[in-house]
Amino acid sequence: MRTPPATVALRGRLLWFIDDPATAGEAASLRQIEDGIVVVADGIIRACGPADEILARAGDGLAIIDHRPHLVLPGLIDAHIHFPQTRAIAAYGAELLEWLERHVFPEELRYGESAHAEPAARFFLDELLANGTTTAAVFCSVHPQSAEALFAEAARRNLRLVAGKVMMDRNAPAALCDTPERGYEESAALIGRWHGRARLRYAISPRFAITSSPAQLEAAGALARAHPDCPVQTHLAESLAEIRAVRRLFAEAGDYTGVYERFGLLGPKSLLGHCIHMSEREWGALNRAGAVAVFCPTSNLFLGSGLFDLAQARDPARPVRVAVATDIGAGTSYSMLATMGEAYKVCRMRGQALDPLAAFHMMTRGNAMALGLGDRIGALEPGREADIVVLDPRATPAMAHRLERAGGIVDELFTLITLGDERAVRETYVMGVPSKPRDRRPRAA
Ligand SMILES: [Zn+2]
Repeated sequence: MRTPPATVALRGRLLWFIDDPATAGEAASLRQIEDGIVVVADGIIRACGPADEILARAGDGLAIIDHRPHLVLPGLIDAHIHFPQTRAIAAYGAELLEWLERHVFPEELRYGESAHAEPAARFFLDELLANGTTTAAVFCSVHPQSAEALFAEAARRNLRLVAGKVMMDRNAPAALCDTPERGYEESAALIGRWHGRARLRYAISPRFAITSSPAQLEAAGALARAHPDCPVQTHLAESLAEIRAVRRLFAEAGDYTGVYERFGLLGPKSLLGHCIHMSEREWGALNRAGAVAVFCPTSNLFLGSGLFDLAQARDPARPVRVAVATDIGAGTSYSMLATMGEAYKVCRMRGQALDPLAAFHMMTRGNAMALGLGDRIGALEPGREADIVVLDPRATPAMAHRLERAGGIVDELFTLITLGDERAVRETYVMGVPSKPRDRRPRAA
């Protein structure tokens, strides 16, 4: 584990949220300091305010890293991503179920070998940090070795990460299947070893209803009851063919959401990837449970799964919590900025608007709250962990050129999500330690 320097002070244009601008309005939610300083000691934010005030209080003793004129924000958070799919990204021509069989399962088979999983974990976390993502909720393969490799590498980097091995015991190659008993025991052992260690949390991860027998979903529910502080992550109502298959497998459940309800997998710590094709009953069930729908725009477009309905999810009559995510490898970008740019377009296809402030809230404080980490990360508040990203809204010629017609911060934020990606990330701090990987050259074949 890296030791953070005792005290570091980051100066720049600070921006974070203390509430959701979509419901509380801009004035009550946005905190913006045009020339501000974040003081970090031992990895924790100790003070945050206007530079002149902080400097007057601190005297000359403060070692300042000057990021002006760039934006300094809480680190970006990805609420749903698959560690073993970094080589299944950009796989041509299939819808969800065929894509899993043809491209994903053969790739995930390799993660039973630590010699494969360990370098893959280094690549995966490098890629997240290069994109300014400091926390993610991650699906590993079915093999405990894959989760071991990822947790060990995340611990070495002192990252706040949520992850779990997938549980799957049917409708997949035999070598990718555990059993209800083995899935339970291997998950419980990983919880014992990693949950709560360093900055790590374990997510109980039944892949989805198609690849888990009723006995395994029962076991996953028992595991969730035995470990009530572990989140549960899975997939729900992503594609129409998937929903038809779930109806055949669980004819008595009524609907897809009902399957997870029946096995005790729907609660305030449940992260449900996709939620595209949902009935009013299902939205109501998520609302009552306090569960989170995870919007994965690039993945949904890439597989042709459908268009997430943000307005329907947030219907004030029964609002459902929403997170956002890349869903690599069906997702097509590791960048949460690019992901929010596509989220905006999905909303446009639905005749809705996703304003840039709401987009930045979603990938910082919003996702932190969705992962149950709102008291630790996602804001530049004293006491929070100093996971911070520095963004340059003029990172490329096209972005700088566009911003010659800028109307203020909202234009800059919208340019970042529409045209930005890892090139806009100047630095990524993990607990106050600069952690953006440098000099990453593609490896020779
Ligand atoms: Zn997924």
